[in-house]
Amino acid sequence: MEFPNNGGQNQWYPFMDRPMPEQVDGIVQNPSVVPLSNVDPLPASAKYVVVGAGIHGMSSAYHLAMALEKSGKGKGSDVVLIDKQGPGAGASGLACGCVRNLYMTGPLHSILRASVEVWESDPVNFGFQQVGYVSIGEENQTEDYIKLNESQIESGYPSDLYSGKQAHDFLKGMWPDFKTNNCDVVLHEHRSGYAGTHTAMWGLDQKCQQWGVQRVYGVAVTGYDMDAGSVTAVETTAGRIQCDQVVVGAGAWTPQHWEWLGGSNTLDVLYPDGHTEVDKAMGTYWRLLEGEVFMPPGVDYRTADGKDAPVLHVELMNTPVYDKTGNMMQDHVYTYTRYAAERVGAPGLQGGTMPIQIGDSAQVEPYGHFADAYQADDWFPEYYCTTLGMLFERFENLEPYYKQRRNGGIGAFTPDNVPIFDYAADNAWVIADSNHGFKMIGVGKLTADMMVGGTKPWELEPFTFDRFAKGTTFGDRNSNCPWV
Ligand SMILES: Cc1cc2nc3c(=O)[nH]c(=O)nc-3n(C[C@H](O)[C@H](O)[C@H](O)COP(=O)(O)OP(=O)(O)OC[C@H]3O[C@@H](n4cnc5c(N)ncnc54)[C@H](O)[C@@H]3O)c2cc1C
Repeated sequence: MEFPNNGGQNQWYPFMDRPMPEQVDGIVQNPSVVPLSNVDPLPASAKYVVVGAGIHGMSSAYHLAMALEKSGKGKGSDVVLIDKQGPGAGASGLACGCVRNLYMTGPLHSILRASVEVWESDPVNFGFQQVGYVSIGEENQTEDYIKLNESQIESGYPSDLYSGKQAHDFLKGMWPDFKTNNCDVVLHEHRSGYAGTHTAMWGLDQKCQQWGVQRVYGVAVTGYDMDAGSVTAVETTAGRIQCDQVVVGAGAWTPQHWEWLGGSNTLDVLYPDGHTEVDKAMGTYWRLLEGEVFMPPGVDYRTADGKDAPVLHVELMNTPVYDKTGNMMQDHVYTYTRYAAERVGAPGLQGGTMPIQIGDSAQVEPYGHFADAYQADDWFPEYYCTTLGMLFERFENLEPYYKQRRNGGIGAFTPDNVPIFDYAADNAWVIADSNHGFKMIGVGKLTADMMVGGTKPWELEPFTFDRFAKGTTFGDRNSNCPWV
């Protein structure tokens, strides 16, 4: 088979010693990002079936198995985890890995606090680097940042807020070559950071094994057998598995599973101000613009005191970005970046900018870097490198070091771009993270607490599906981006 490398990139596929991805019906399948071992056959029945070995499916399976064993209420092997490929074959294996709490949606702050507790529980095996997160806005974002800072602190997620000269002093203290123009307000989250996506997938897969989860990889779910609003069995390419409870963590494939579970693909959405949007799509697809750059010789991404620097997120809505010839590329700066040796394969940076909306339907297969239609645009490398050069003297000539490889990926967003954590059928719990949930590793733990403990954790309450009918739809923001 030919490698899909039309652009002659210097890297298109990170592990050249892995077997070639298989094809199903002529479509290349995005493979697992970790080698598969000790994979189980599909059993005829299970108490819990978890669909999807991404961050949410694996975190749910691991925490369910551990809670069953520790409580004596069952065995780890009561949990069957199914993926059509294996760990990290969806967005979780190619995410940027940023772990932050920069959300205007207040209830997410507690989800992130619960998540960072999981990241902190085994940072080495999850590849979690708790370097902190620095976000920067212009003056027009000051009110939002004040609200955000207060809500974060209230939820047990400490952050510091700086504005005006204090903001400049903070940035210069952290990075003496930082150019503070238009950087009017700064939020510094201490418990945030980034995680290596492959390490996180490997660590979760190991923990699933450790606690006895039956890991069924290379088997695709093809539908759900329903009876009076409950799932009685999951249909797969390896046969049928009867079950009591289902957890779905299907990432960009979620709209398909939602429909299989009897959910509608459109709905009327009532907003807090009383207006309704009729027939809105349940899932809207966006494609992400991300990439990587090697560190130029003699340059690092460290703080003034020599530490691995915080993840940086800058949104300057009124500051245009110009290309080398003086043409405006975008009328705003929106850039995020982190130190990245895992993905780059050498010291480097990984980051991106605002995603681009595709619409109500998208070609989900082939997924990720195999999808020709959804690669980061040609203008992206110059834009990304230019924004970093606008912010740091050390990054003023970054573009020649841009790593030419396939990049990007798509995600399915909910009607208000905020996650839905809810039952789609009486016994089928869906984790629809609206494509910003790599960081939300704690949702799997909260899911297990609910299913084994019997009480729904309060952190999950605000994310029910009925908010769209009740008028508690989210949407309080001052940003151009769907990560709200
Ligand atoms: C390029 C990119 C960068 C991102 N960066 C970040 C970031 O920095 N920080 C962050 O927090 N989030 C980030 N995200 C979002 C984040 O990656 C996703 O929200 C999250 O990983 C989704 O996890 P998941 O477990 O729901 O789904 P996925 O990781 O997509 O896993 C779903 C799994 O389900 C399997 N599956 C689907 N259908 C079936 C079926 N029928 N049968 C069997 N298996 C099936 C797939 O094979 C897949 O392995 C990024 C996303 C992208 C695309």
